[in-house]
Amino acid sequence: MGSVRTEAGLEAAARRLRDADRVLALTGAGVSAESGVPTFRGPEGLWRQFRPEDLATPEAFERDPRLVWEWYAWRRERIAPLEPNAAHRALAALESRTVEFLLATQNVDGLHAVAGNRRLVELHGSLWRVRCTGCRKLREDRRVPLGDLPPRCACGAVLRPDVVWFGEALPEGAVGAALKAAQTAEVVLVVGTSALVYPAAALPQIAQGHGAFVVEVNPEETALTASADVSLRGRAAELVPALVEAGQ
Ligand code: NAD
Ligand code: ZN
Repeated sequence: MGSVRTEAGLEAAARRLRDADRVLALTGAGVSAESGVPTFRGPEGLWRQFRPEDLATPEAFERDPRLVWEWYAWRRERIAPLEPNAAHRALAALESRTVEFLLATQNVDGLHAVAGNRRLVELHGSLWRVRCTGCRKLREDRRVPLGDLPPRCACGAVLRPDVVWFGEALPEGAVGAALKAAQTAEVVLVVGTSALVYPAAALPQIAQGHGAFVVEVNPEETALTASADVSLRGRAAELVPALVEAGQ
């Protein structure tokens, strides 16, 4: 249990992945780090003097929608020119060769879809969708820059990003799909998440309870490391392709 990166660990995990018909992949900010998207906890996670915890809340939006939108507009501008990296691409290749596959991501950057994953649920929503605080209408919005902030709906009400803020419930459909996949997956691949918040924290354990083999990829030890069947220390863009290719 919890074996650190070794060639044997990589081999064992690759073999499990190759032999599995049902795979659940769970990703966090770390999978996009090598595309140039900063993680919140990294040195570039700060914007002006604010911490994400002070901006990504319904209360902050209520108080100052313009300030919160300035932060999202800045993130959209930073992320718009970025491209999927080798880890995103390997996860797309894994989907195409696996009978039943689901990718549950906590990322809001949209890069998994760009890489080609289709069996995809966004547990924390997307930076590229907006939701009307008045009529509730949801739509894609890829404009960069956004124009006057806060952006408004045709109905006149203020739009908000369709992302999950601290203290808000996760989208039921996405969580339901991830839970269902966790109950049937033979292998769960957890990449680039500190695995501290629900459901990322719970899914690997639920899956293990149903007999799944859990593989973690992260340069640092996480809350999941001790219970993972194989925990590989390293960068996603190096190790995920290595896992998927070694398993072919
Ligand atoms: P997190 O809690 O998922 O932590 C990031 C993890 O990535 C850490 O465990 C870190 O060790 C690991 N990591 C760093 N570089 C890596 C690499 N090259 N390869 C593999 N792993 C690597 O995420 P967070 O940054 O604390 O953000 C919390 C939440 O904020 C996210 O779940 C998401 O909703 C949002 N967020 C999204 C994005 C995005 O969409 N790309 C970026 C930042 C934050
Ligand atoms: Zn509206």
